[in-house]
Amino acid sequence: MPRITDKVLVLRRFPFGETSLILHVLTEKHGRVHLVARGAFRAKSPLCGLLDFFDTLELDWAQSKRSTMGEVRSGRLVTRRRRLTQDLTRYRTSLAALELGSAAAREGLPDPGLYHRLETCFDLVGVPERDPALELLSFDLDLLRGLGIAPVVELCAACAGTAAPVDAGGARAAFSAGAGGRLCRKCAIGARAQGGRVGTLGVEVLSAASVLMRRSVQERADLPPMPEELFRGLRDFVDRFLEYHLETKLRSRPLPVAASQAT
Ligand SMILES: [Zn+2]
Repeated sequence: MPRITDKVLVLRRFPFGETSLILHVLTEKHGRVHLVARGAFRAKSPLCGLLDFFDTLELDWAQSKRSTMGEVRSGRLVTRRRRLTQDLTRYRTSLAALELGSAAAREGLPDPGLYHRLETCFDLVGVPERDPALELLSFDLDLLRGLGIAPVVELCAACAGTAAPVDAGGARAAFSAGAGGRLCRKCAIGARAQGGRVGTLGVEVLSAASVLMRRSVQERADLPPMPEELFRGLRDFVDRFLEYHLETKLRSRPLPVAASQAT
């Protein structure tokens, strides 16, 4: 049987039989892979205590052509991220990133970008000076960009023209997740006429998303804290956009209030 070695992050784990584990992992070079780790719960197994969430592992597995599931032969720890399991806010934040990574990872579709985004997110959420809530939001937006479906938040998503606010106060712009983002008045009317769902979003929320998407990892650390209500609006918008495009309900979201307030 061909042997494969790759770096992995554990996405999901299920007990199998008395002592074994089924693993869904995101690999650096082979996309999502499903594996069985026989005897992983035996105290004498070299895999015992190794196959944890959030850590970077290097696994060696045998992949039979007849089965979609590989069999783990050996593994070693590359990076332990213990801090993520020692603080409830950082733990929940990491689980939310993991759930999204799992929803986006496909079998048979190598996606090194997704692997590195998730690994970077775990690293940053573990840095005490970083705001975990802001790091998760940045991960979400970056993941959407990696999938080629980043929300269009400045110009009109349909005609690439200026998308002015649509209310008298100038505070809200037309927005449609299905159309890819912000819409000008004319395209909003057109989208509605074709049966599309078009709502409105605060211009402030769209501007905050734009700022965040243009900041590098380093620049993000220097951003002034966002007012809580604005952050909630942005968080809610990104969650709904993700759920629309990934066609799944993300169970770990919204995070408990304490997680969003962490600074
Ligand atoms: Zn337009």
